[in-house]
Amino acid sequence: MEKTPKTVKKPRRYQIHLLKERCKGCLFCIEFCPKQSLKESTEFNRKGYHLVCADNLDACTGCKLCEMLCPEFAISVVPEEESTR
Ligand code: SF4
Ligand code: SF4
Repeated sequence: MEKTPKTVKKPRRYQIHLLKERCKGCLFCIEFCPKQSLKESTEFNRKGYHLVCADNLDACTGCKLCEMLCPEFAISVVPEEESTR
């Protein structure tokens, strides 16, 4: 009997979008990310708040916990194929 080839699904990749001027540097997103996919950036916004940036995005599962916890609605997680549209 002929074997049908198995399709191997590529893991989905995500990008982090940050509205820099909304971020207050509370770092909740970093603290609660279960995959340590975010880190403190060396950058500050115009209000003087320390920003966050992506780190180790390969581990990001797109759980959106960072997005849900951000009190300023400053961070969002977008699947890579959508973010390049
Ligand atoms: S939770 Fe929101 S406001 Fe706080 S550091 Fe992260 S992105 Fe900025
Ligand atoms: S979506 Fe989940 S895993 Fe990805 S950065 Fe946000 S909290 Fe971390």
